[in-house]
Amino acid sequence: MKTIYVDNNATTKVAPEVVEAMLPYFTERYGNASSMHSFGGGLVVDIRRARTQVADLIGARPEEILFTSGGTESDATAIHAALQSNPDKRHIVTSRVEHPAIKTLFERYQKNGYRVTFVPVDGEGRLEQTALLESLSDDTAIVSLMWANNETGVINPIDDLSREVRARGILFHTDAVQTVGKIPIDVSQNGVDLLSMSAHKFHGPKGIGALYIRKGTKFKPMVVGGHQEGGRRAGTENVPGIVGMGRACALAGENLEDVGTRVRQLRDTLEQALLQAVPRSMANGGQAERLPNTTSIAFEYVEGEAILLLMNEYGICASSGSACTSGSLEPSHVLRAMGVPFTAAHGSIRYSLSHYTTREEVDYIVDKMPPIIERLRSMSPFWKQATEAAMH
Ligand code: PLP
Repeated sequence: MKTIYVDNNATTKVAPEVVEAMLPYFTERYGNASSMHSFGGGLVVDIRRARTQVADLIGARPEEILFTSGGTESDATAIHAALQSNPDKRHIVTSRVEHPAIKTLFERYQKNGYRVTFVPVDGEGRLEQTALLESLSDDTAIVSLMWANNETGVINPIDDLSREVRARGILFHTDAVQTVGKIPIDVSQNGVDLLSMSAHKFHGPKGIGALYIRKGTKFKPMVVGGHQEGGRRAGTENVPGIVGMGRACALAGENLEDVGTRVRQLRDTLEQALLQAVPRSMANGGQAERLPNTTSIAFEYVEGEAILLLMNEYGICASSGSACTSGSLEPSHVLRAMGVPFTAAHGSIRYSLSHYTTREEVDYIVDKMPPIIERLRSMSPFWKQATEAAMH
C-alpha cells in the first residue's frame, strides 16, 4: 500500500539532493573539523558554506548562525543565554500554545523561582497582544514566542511584536521551527534577537538545527567543553548534518514559492472538501493567518486516535490533537488554550502538507475521510445523543 504522508509538521522526508550532499561526509570526508591536518581541518570551508546557506534563508549574516542538535536545543540555548546574561532579571514571558520545547522549559524556570507570564490566545489561536505588552516590565529578561504554531499553523505577527518588545530594551526569541521554509523570514527587517530552527522540518536531516544570534547580543554557552562554534557550543561538529542543513536551506529558499502557492491551494482544497463533506467539522484557527501547509480539523464526537488508526489502514499518516499522557487521552494544551470544546478537541486531526504533496494524494484523503468519520460516529453514543438533541 502506498503511504500518503501528511504529517510534515512532525518531520519531513530528507530531500534526495540533501542526501547526496551529505554522503561524502560519511564515506570519504569523515575527518574532525577541528583537526590540525588538512584531512579534517579542510572541512571548515564546507561548514562555512553551510553557515552562509542557513544565514541566507533568514536574512542573517553567517557569523550570526550557531549550529545545534535541533529545535529543542536551540530553544534551551537561547533562553539559557538570555537569563545568564541578565542575572538580575527574574521575569520571562511566553504564550500558552508553545511547543513542549519551550512550555516545559518555562515551567521548569517557574519552579526555579522565575516569574513566568503565559500569554493567552483567542478562540482562533491568535495571541492576546495587549496582555503581552502589559506584562512587560524592567524585570523582564526575555520574551519567547513561537512564529507559527505546530498544531494549527496559526502565525504570530513576529515582525511587529519583536520590534515592540525590542524597543523596550527586552530580548526577543522566536521558535521558528515550523516557519522556516514555509513563509519568508528576514531577521534584518525585524527585532528578533534569537531564532530557533530545525533541519528535519524542511527536508533536512534529523539531529541538526541552528540558533540565530543577532550580532551584539550577549551570549553565554549552555554546552561547555571544546572551542567549537567559536566557543558558543562545545562538541565535535556534526559535519554531515551541517552540510545537509545548508543544502536543505538552499532548497527551501527555492521552494518557498511552491509552498506559498501550490501547496497552499492543496491545503485549502483539502480543508474545504472535508468541511463540506463531514457534518459538524471545523478548522481550528481557520479564521487566523496560518502557515500554507497546515490544517487542523475537528470532527466532533469522535476520538482522534480512533480516526488515526482507520486512516492508517488506508496508508494515510497524520497527527491528532491529543497527547497520550499517563494513559489518559488529554486534548492538546494548544486546543484547550483556544477554548475548543472537549468534544471537538478530542476529534482533531492535523494534516500538514509539503513540497512533495500531490493533488492525487489530497483527492485520495478527501475520498477516504468522510466514510471513516461516519463509521466511527455510527458507533459513538455521544454522536447519537448530540444528533438527537439537535433534532428536538
Ligand atoms: N518547536 C516547535 C514549534 C516544533 O514544532 C518542534 C518539533 O516538533 C520543536 C520545537 C522541536 O524541534 P526538534 O525536534 O528539532 O528538537
